[in-house]
Amino acid sequence: MTTSGTTISQNTGTEPRSDGASPLNAPNGQSPERETPSLSGQTQAVHAGEKRYISHDSVTVPIVQTSTYTFEDTASLISYMEEHMFWDVPEREEYGRYGNPTVRAAEAKLAALDGAEDALLLSSGMAAITTTLFILLSQGDHFVMTEDCYRRTRGFCNTFLTRFGITCTTVAPGDYDAIEAAIRPETRLIFSESPTNPFLRCVDYARLVDIAKRHGLRTIIDTTFATPCNVRPLEYGIDLAVHSVTKYLAGHNDLLAGCVTGSFDITTALRQSQGILGAVVDPHCAYLILRGLKTLGLRMRQHNESALRIARYLEDHPRIRRVWYPGLDSHPDHEVATRTMAGFGGVISFEVEADGPTTSRFIDACRIPRIGPSLGGVESLIEQPAIVSYFDNDPEYRRSLGITDELVRLSVGIEDTDDLIADFGQALAQM
Ligand SMILES: *Cc1c(COP(=O)(O)O)cnc(C)c1O
Repeated sequence: MTTSGTTISQNTGTEPRSDGASPLNAPNGQSPERETPSLSGQTQAVHAGEKRYISHDSVTVPIVQTSTYTFEDTASLISYMEEHMFWDVPEREEYGRYGNPTVRAAEAKLAALDGAEDALLLSSGMAAITTTLFILLSQGDHFVMTEDCYRRTRGFCNTFLTRFGITCTTVAPGDYDAIEAAIRPETRLIFSESPTNPFLRCVDYARLVDIAKRHGLRTIIDTTFATPCNVRPLEYGIDLAVHSVTKYLAGHNDLLAGCVTGSFDITTALRQSQGILGAVVDPHCAYLILRGLKTLGLRMRQHNESALRIARYLEDHPRIRRVWYPGLDSHPDHEVATRTMAGFGGVISFEVEADGPTTSRFIDACRIPRIGPSLGGVESLIEQPAIVSYFDNDPEYRRSLGITDELVRLSVGIEDTDDLIADFGQALAQM
């Protein structure tokens, strides 16, 4: 693994592990893909994790739509069981909750894209986050989390984990002194998002890793908003990257999934607990993820370029009070983002120079973006966080987080940028 910036590494995720264990994408005893050094991220997005020759000479990975797997005779079942006891990734599958070849191909592709030893797919981004924290934390442990995280993640940490005696301190994003000050003897890990939601704060990974190393802590980054096209946190020494695959990675607003990438040791522990906790992805969903990932690079280029142009347009518009986009000089983390990221993603947050109801009128007047939560798909989506994610919070609390009624979150899709800009122009003129 390199420690340099943002280039996609040559790890195809398909080389046999040096300890002799099976490569992830060679289940069923078939030979792994030929060694393919020096592949770019886009080539990996198309090919990594997929065997070159598959059943029926299909060019695509088949959807192995099965709940269980059968054995030729009792002797082969016994030899599988014996092997399984010593080998975490056996060369065939046993039961659907423990593994599926279509899912494994998607996992190998995700691992290659993040430059990770392994990846685990789960049924949603939240399943990835909750399973990971459940496995890495025990009663009495403490961890540090940055504010401005996905609301359900904060909910899980502040209300759910506390029932198991696990406590959490939240600190302001970008305040590295506060992170360090929050560390106690029982602290086990630091969890952050980057870029965050909705203000797109970006973590200085080197600084975070330095703090964590000095205190012997693990680091986890929810990097859903960035994708491996824009940044690969593991290259900076972050232990685990978590993604809501629902968003950019799958990219088409048509499925829910999550993944965790990192070292084989941790993903294996997670895989084993997934077999107990049960938040698995079905093979058809894994197929759609494989399909979506093939165009990740093309889509991200369009999201990055289009969002930067739209952010600049909005910042210059007299009816817009403020824009948060890491690609703008005005963003508090512009320097960190420019240093660490190849692009700034497709999400823009901005405040309209108006009150809440007038902001809603602007949103209703937009003809191209659809109104709704979520992000990262080909269709542009627009929403007021005060009405979507924070509707049930008391307004005082909401405002203390900076979520004003006039705040808008826009997920820029892959529509033509000029069409989108013209649409925002006419909608702002109608307010
Ligand atoms: C959407 C999202 C999640 C949750 O993912 P699901 O797939 O909806 O469960 C977690 N973190 C971030 C940053 C997200 O945007």
